[in-house]
Amino acid sequence: MLASLGTMPELARQLSGLGGCTRPIRLDGHRTEHEINTTTGEIGRILNHLDSTTLPAGHLLVRCNNRRATRCPACAETYRRDTYQLITAGLRGGKGTPDQVATHPRVFATFTAPSFGPVHNRPTSGRPCRCGHHHDEQDPTLGTPLTPDTYDYEAAVLWNAHAGALWRRFTIYLRREVAKRAGLTQRKLQQHARVSFAKVAEYQKRGAVHFHAVIRLDGPDGGDTAPPPWATVELLTDAIQAAVTAARVDGPQIDDRTHAFTFGRQLDVRPIRSAAFDHDQELTDRAVAAYIAKYATKGAETTTGTLDRPLRFLAELAQVSISDHARRMIRTAWTLGARRDLAGLRLRAWAHMLGFRGHFSTKSRRYSTTLGALRTARADWRRAQTAPPVAVPQDTETTLVLSHWVFAGTGLSTAEAWLAASLEPAPGTEGEPTR
Ligand SMILES: [Zn+2]
Ligand SMILES: [Zn+2]
Repeated sequence: MLASLGTMPELARQLSGLGGCTRPIRLDGHRTEHEINTTTGEIGRILNHLDSTTLPAGHLLVRCNNRRATRCPACAETYRRDTYQLITAGLRGGKGTPDQVATHPRVFATFTAPSFGPVHNRPTSGRPCRCGHHHDEQDPTLGTPLTPDTYDYEAAVLWNAHAGALWRRFTIYLRREVAKRAGLTQRKLQQHARVSFAKVAEYQKRGAVHFHAVIRLDGPDGGDTAPPPWATVELLTDAIQAAVTAARVDGPQIDDRTHAFTFGRQLDVRPIRSAAFDHDQELTDRAVAAYIAKYATKGAETTTGTLDRPLRFLAELAQVSISDHARRMIRTAWTLGARRDLAGLRLRAWAHMLGFRGHFSTKSRRYSTTLGALRTARADWRRAQTAPPVAVPQDTETTLVLSHWVFAGTGLSTAEAWLAASLEPAPGTEGEPTR
């Protein structure tokens, strides 16, 4: 095996640029950087040339950037760190967001789905579950229906499919409720304050999506401007509660039943304090950022035990080892996915996600930096650290980059995987506590 590795130090260097990604994308092609004469505009000498056939692995290898920890632990970890940075910037400032956002009213809110039937649980009172047993924390029956035959699978799947629309409705109502409490029209509100948020979706054990969100009140130009005196945590909390109660999305009519979707009654809204003022019980900005970042890398497969990739045929479901509850959720999504009137919900493509097709983490434009900005910063950093360069086309005023790449596959060969595993993980660009 060692002989097949050939130029081991060079290959090791190329693999270390992947930062531990085990499912990289392999590309065939070339990239040439030319100097440009800024006066004449003519193409000058070649500054850099990269041909994939000359690379130790025989291809250019690019990180898969998969968010899911079950697919690529290293890339999911990068995503988690980026999300942490993004949420933190919105809470404490940094990465282009001013530090004063730490003084703006902000809360951490959790939005749940309604009930679709009783499930096995662990009552906090210490009483047994309704089935008579005391379930321990690891019990796989937790979150599964007490009586699967009467559980409302149709509504459960359709709720997930409408959760994104319900969230959007909530954000519209929230602005309206904030304006109302400030004695302003919605149009006038824009001149005084702005509502920013960042949210992640998480699956509960029962397979229903719920949302965790940081919601912040800023001045008229976002984080750069101080919020008006009336903008308090109490006003924001009150407005959130009113907006959640009012948010409702009409769903499809299935047979004789007309669906409509609302959030569950369990709404948790808590003020976020700066770590500097951390008094015992209070939720700190660091804790919130770590919590959101952790859930950003989890799909339905982590908590509900479903699949981490789409189904192509329903028959595939028989081959996989998943819980009966997940199987019924997926089967329901697949069956509903055959209906023409529900084509817009793309329930077959998203059956493995139990109907939810929304983004895992979203934020309003002014919340903080973007994941894209963080990725660019990291790519620049890596370019400075390692050769050969990564495949990020870069056009500046003085260089012309000509490149052509074609997809040549994914993953590592056995020998490459062995060598990659023996390498130290590449150093990260950020340091923050792992929780
Ligand atoms: Zn990866
Ligand atoms: Zn039970």
